[in-house]
Amino acid sequence: MEGFEKYYQKDHQTRLDILKQKKYLDQTQLDKLQASASEVKISDAMIENFITEYHLPEGLALNYVVDGQEYLIPFVTEEPSVVAAASHGAALVKRAGGFKTTVTERLMIGQIILENVAHPEQVASFLESQAEKLLALANAAHPSIVKRGGGAQALKVRVLAPDLISLDLIVDVKEAMGANMLNTMLEACATYLQTKLGLDVLISILSNYATRCLAKATCALPVELLTRNGLSGAKIAQKIATASRVAQLDPYRATTHNKGIMNGIDAVVLASGNDWRAIEAGAHAYAARDGQYRGLSTWIVKDDILYGELELPLPLGTVGGSIGIVPLVKINQQLLRLKDARQLEAIVAAVGLGQNLAALYALVTDGIQKGHMRLQLKSLALSVGATKAELEPVVSRLEALQARDQATAKKVLEELRNKQSERSRT
Ligand code: NDP
Repeated sequence: MEGFEKYYQKDHQTRLDILKQKKYLDQTQLDKLQASASEVKISDAMIENFITEYHLPEGLALNYVVDGQEYLIPFVTEEPSVVAAASHGAALVKRAGGFKTTVTERLMIGQIILENVAHPEQVASFLESQAEKLLALANAAHPSIVKRGGGAQALKVRVLAPDLISLDLIVDVKEAMGANMLNTMLEACATYLQTKLGLDVLISILSNYATRCLAKATCALPVELLTRNGLSGAKIAQKIATASRVAQLDPYRATTHNKGIMNGIDAVVLASGNDWRAIEAGAHAYAARDGQYRGLSTWIVKDDILYGELELPLPLGTVGGSIGIVPLVKINQQLLRLKDARQLEAIVAAVGLGQNLAALYALVTDGIQKGHMRLQLKSLALSVGATKAELEPVVSRLEALQARDQATAKKVLEELRNKQSERSRT
């Protein structure tokens, strides 16, 4: 586009000036894009064509007791009621002793896809015979991870089609998520396969389907803890279990069920500086692992106890990527009193289950809107320009009108302001 040639080579101020010269933004709007010198220094190095910081709210989810330890959990999210719901779900579980978690191995899988394979079975067994050599090549490409006690551990060969093979490299990534580490190792192996063995490499990259990096959270709630507004705890627990069954049976419901789980998970993943797209992709693939997309969590009632369980791939890091770069991430690690990546996995799995419990509990009792509506109306009022002082009267008026749209919110705000200016005149 004219004026934007080599935009990435321009400095920050010049990029902003171009937006003004080309009449995309005026000076008042440009002023909103100003970032501090330290922000520019960090972010300009992180992404391309950087123009400004885009801030999201951060709040703390409370009441999370995970494996006997209580946590303050930083959530970064733009959605009202996520933090409140997560804290509510956790409060219920806290009364029953908290969440228990299991985090087993932390292995990442990378793939080298071979194409134009003529005799797949023959090539597969040849590749298996090369395992030692390939593992050594992978480790030589990233020796520091071996010094840390990790590194490439195993190879697996899968024939995908008569002409396609996936050579899977399984790597212990220690405290990192490991994408770049794996990609370096894979490319070293791919070069060998191509140049020395004459194989045709199509792609070499990490897989986000991290089935060797699973985390599980469970909880067990005596049903009487769920009693609410005249509805017995046993009845509510049964309804939660049925809602969970529906999410196992029906992909339409399962998708929303899982979206609710990811509301909390993404918020913590973002706050911890991890790649939330990677976690999202892996979670949804895992939800469809038996061929049908299902709810990631399950809830059952047995002997007056509601048992919840959530398992998903959580390849999270405490180092690497933006973690060491974004100052807030270090602060969030401090808030979490984070020791290592396993602990982060455990916390995130518990958050997913707590968030899910709160959503199901609200859905089967009052419905999701009742508890959320005030927060939604607050967002609506803010979106039409209400100030902090105007929020309360605008939200109350919208509640009374049972209106949920911007036009009404604007009208209510105008009426309030007109009334106030009339009052100040009299
Ligand atoms: P980095 O490339 O930043 O690698 C992490 C580095 O941390 C290691 O190479 C290691 O460097 C250092 N390190 C320090 N202490 C430890 C420790 N105890 N354990 C392990 N490593 C340690 O990040 P990742 O390889 O983790 O990759 C994550 C990034 O890759 C994310 O930003 C993600 O968005 C991005 N990405 C994701 C893809 C995907 O998901 N498909 C694809 C491509 C990129 P050293 O050993 O040299 O000290």
